[in-house]
Amino acid sequence: MPIDPDFAHNRDVVDEHEGHDVWGPVEEPETLGIHGTHVAVDFDICLADGACLEDCPVDVFEWVETPGHPESERKADPANESSCIDCMLCVDVCPVDAIDVNPARAEE
Ligand code: SF4
Repeated sequence: MPIDPDFAHNRDVVDEHEGHDVWGPVEEPETLGIHGTHVAVDFDICLADGACLEDCPVDVFEWVETPGHPESERKADPANESSCIDCMLCVDVCPVDAIDVNPARAEE
């Protein structure tokens, strides 16, 4: 199942991580929620393919270790989401549709 593009209306911010919001539910280590708002990564879908880290022209993503998560033990964290230029490459290359990019959402 892909990331919910309407997650900002369907979820609540429950935490902050590296300067970006974390949208719940979060129950570590099995359930990690969505990281980021402008550039959002559903950590519960991400399987650490790494294409987004390789392809992002402005290095928005960094690996974060997530031991014990059923999909993968590291995630592509949108640590520098404010640098995003909305090229949509990460959205296109993610094999499991874990990423949604929407600059308007960050301004809501
Ligand atoms: S949309 Fe482009 S610039 Fe923004 S995070 Fe994805 S790959 Fe990087």
